[in-house]
Amino acid sequence: MTDPMAPSPILYEPTTNTFKTGIRGRCPRCQQGRIFKGYLQVADHCDVCGLDYSFTNTADGPAFFAMSIIAPFAMGLALWLELAYEVPIWVHLLTTIPFTIFGCIFFLRPIKGWLLSAEYIHGIRDGRIKLTSEG
Ligand SMILES: [Zn+2]
Repeated sequence: MTDPMAPSPILYEPTTNTFKTGIRGRCPRCQQGRIFKGYLQVADHCDVCGLDYSFTNTADGPAFFAMSIIAPFAMGLALWLELAYEVPIWVHLLTTIPFTIFGCIFFLRPIKGWLLSAEYIHGIRDGRIKLTSEG
């Protein structure tokens, strides 16, 4: 059995379209392996090329973008229900809130894949402060 973390002897052509590769949940290096091992949990490494995914840190980025996409539609739905039908509050609890929650969950995975792919291609890493004794 080969070490999955060892560099691959095969040269892969990294993606040039991080959005397309990311929303499909594919590895940014080989574009064949899967990024996720669950719905949102990132795999340890690519099962095709062995790329170590420990560099990933999308933090709150996917949640921010998902909420930004869904919020105008949720607001529109709530306003339309209220202005057109003057519905009681429980109707909003059964329509607008589930729409918002499930809409955000739906967009989380493709957005996380996109941001992870962009992190790899653009070499984005956590910031480091280098302290020297020479002020
Ligand atoms: Zn790969």
